[in-house]
Amino acid sequence: MTKIRLFKTVAGLRAYLGGQPPGKTVGLVPTMGALHAGHASLIRRALGETDRVVVSIFVNPLQFGSNEDFGRYPRQLESDCQFCEDLGVDAVFSPSPEELGIVSEQETTRVIPPESMMSTLCGLFRPGHFEGVATIVTKLLTTVEPDVAYFGEKDAQQLAIIRRLVVDLNLGVTIKGCPIVRETSGLAYSSRNQYLSETERKQAIWIFYALKLAEEAFKQGERQRATLLKIVQEELALHPSLKVQYLALVDPQTLSPLDTVEEAGLLAIAVYVGSTRLIDNVILRVRQPIIAIDGPAGAGKSTVTRRVAKALNLVYLDTGAMYRAIAWLVSKSGVSLEDQGAIAELVTHAKLDFSPPTEGAPLRISINGEDVSEAIRTPEVTALVSQISAQPAVRAKLVSYQQDLGKKGGLVAEGRDIGTNVFPDAELKIFLTASVQERAKRRWLDFQDQGDGMTLEQLEQDIQQRDYRDSHRSLAPLRQAVDAIEINTDGLTIEEVTDKIIYFYQKIISY
Ligand code: AMP
Repeated sequence: MTKIRLFKTVAGLRAYLGGQPPGKTVGLVPTMGALHAGHASLIRRALGETDRVVVSIFVNPLQFGSNEDFGRYPRQLESDCQFCEDLGVDAVFSPSPEELGIVSEQETTRVIPPESMMSTLCGLFRPGHFEGVATIVTKLLTTVEPDVAYFGEKDAQQLAIIRRLVVDLNLGVTIKGCPIVRETSGLAYSSRNQYLSETERKQAIWIFYALKLAEEAFKQGERQRATLLKIVQEELALHPSLKVQYLALVDPQTLSPLDTVEEAGLLAIAVYVGSTRLIDNVILRVRQPIIAIDGPAGAGKSTVTRRVAKALNLVYLDTGAMYRAIAWLVSKSGVSLEDQGAIAELVTHAKLDFSPPTEGAPLRISINGEDVSEAIRTPEVTALVSQISAQPAVRAKLVSYQQDLGKKGGLVAEGRDIGTNVFPDAELKIFLTASVQERAKRRWLDFQDQGDGMTLEQLEQDIQQRDYRDSHRSLAPLRQAVDAIEINTDGLTIEEVTDKIIYFYQKIISY
């Protein structure tokens, strides 16, 4: 294991990152230290999805109120560095406030998120907190310049504000939210759990228990805020040692209050246990499950995906058809493929309409009002599509379009980064693999039918090279999501693979 690097200066970190080989992606996990299993889940995800992982450890003075626990907050840099090193982190960035330009709290440039997002939930009780968070997170993002930054859903208001900040300030970073990690008791891991006495720790368990009761009611069909909140309040009333500071149901993206959950609701709570303030939440989603299938070329993804969609009556989200529609638009416009700026201008606001295939009716797709369902199958489009899909603006456009289509769920999609990037919260993630030899053999058999003369050895080399390229490209590289189920299809028929996926799906649905 290589020794972890610790940087305390912006110059040191920048020089280190600048010295990395070009094309390597950087993942950032911002923390305040006192690392625990919740942080570890963010770090593992970053390690799985990016080439270099930086963990920042900074107890941010700007986000603490004058009567809060800034002085008392646990600081344990040495053991935190060891924790990161054991996980395989490349570098820890732990600057002083001065190093980040905070000489005095009054005299620093600040980033101010929208008032509507700050004047709710924790923001109501912690004036200045989210301004402090936004200011420091912006500094960290502009210092580290990561490709992806990871934040926990535990701090759901923070996550929503940071997602918005990145859009509003046009910061070129992808923000990924990671699910809450809990102790077996259900208590969410938090650095502040260190403050709890044994008795308080036992009392704190009821917080999640109460949220779970509301989640259960939601699963049974309850959608009304008043009823969902009442369920939590009534349970917590049985535990008078817990003092609820707020309990609210809001939209997880905009944080505006919800009377009824239409698509998704964030049920969030802050509770005092003794003098320790804990926060927790559950996200209530009115969504059918999503299946994400990724894997190397030639593992049989597209055939299997179509079959799974048909068998489970799910929408087959044909992402390939969408890339083809964009390729058609570019080819029709006459813009040169090298002119990435012009392509970005052309596609960013293009209007796509995708109607999935149904029993008896094929897929329909139109772009800017023109039906291109047949036109996207021409050899001219086929020749363009792979170059078009390698352009960042095209991917950004389609990933966000696919995520919009995924809001209601009930779909299955395949690709290279569906489970890591497009639908990281998919209920079922499958990573379909097959050995190089097996894939070469399958291609060889196909080619035999077509009378192609490539040898097995040539095909194996071809596939090996393609695998390498696919997993090392900087845009949407092939990676297995940490929570994906791997299915090695060597020696399995298409039916057997399909049945396996259906089995996993049914297991998840019945859970
Ligand atoms: P903190 O050190 O408390 O500022 O947390 C650093 C990051 O870890 C934030 O993005 C938190 O949301 C995330 N985090 C903290 N606790 C958990 C948890 N129990 N599960 C998942 N993420 C967490």
